[in-house]
Amino acid sequence: MIVVKKGKEPRSLMGFRLQNPDADYESDIPTNVLKDIREQMWKDQVCLCGYCMKKINSPRDVRVEHCRPRHPQGEETHDHKAALDFKWMLGVCYGNSLKRGVKPEDTTCDAHRGNTELTINPFDQLSVRKIKYRADGSIYSDNAEINKDVTETLNLNCQSLSLPQTRKSVLMAEQARIMKKCKGKSRDAFMHELKRTYESLVRERNLTPYCGIIIFWLESKLKIS
Ligand SMILES: [Zn+2]
Repeated sequence: MIVVKKGKEPRSLMGFRLQNPDADYESDIPTNVLKDIREQMWKDQVCLCGYCMKKINSPRDVRVEHCRPRHPQGEETHDHKAALDFKWMLGVCYGNSLKRGVKPEDTTCDAHRGNTELTINPFDQLSVRKIKYRADGSIYSDNAEINKDVTETLNLNCQSLSLPQTRKSVLMAEQARIMKKCKGKSRDAFMHELKRTYESLVRERNLTPYCGIIIFWLESKLKIS
C-alpha cells in the first residue's frame, strides 16, 4: 500500500451529490457517474489497486471502495453522506473474487474485507508509513490494529496469489537495477541514485505494481521517516 493522492472530484458526481443530497451510494448512483468515478480513480492511482498494488488493466475493472478509516483525523463520526464523498473513495481490484468457487482465504482487498472497519488510512502519509515489509516480501506493521488490517482484514499476504513472493521479486529486480547502474561508482553516486529513484516514485508518481516495498526500502536507506 502507498499513499493515494486524489485528483478532483468528477463533475458528474458533484452535480449528482448536490441535486440528490439524500442519495445513498449503493443503490442510487447513476451508471454514468460511476463510470466517471472509476476513470478518475484509475488515473489518480496510476492503474494500481489502492490496497494490494496490483495493476488494474482498465477503468472497467476498478471496484469503488468506500475507505473511511475508523478514526480519521479531524473528522466527525460516520455519517450518511460519507458514502457519496469522493474523498473516501478508493479504486481497488476485485481481489480474486471473480473466480468461480474461490475460497474466502484466497481473496484479498475489499473482497476479503467485507464490512470490517479499517484503521489504516490510505490517504494519510503518517498512517501508510506504519506499514513495513520483511525480507520475504510479507507485509506487516508494528501497530497491532494496522497489522490486523493488512494481514487479516485485507489478506495482503495471500499465499495462493503469491503476494509476498511477487513483492520480493519486485524489490530484488529494482535493487539489481540500481546495483548494476552504480557498479564501480562511489557511495555518493549510489545514494544519489537512491534519491533519484525515490523522487521518481514518490514525487513524480511514476508508480509501478507493488512499488510500496521499493519505497519502504528506499525510505529506510535514505533514513526518511
Ligand atoms: Zn487489490
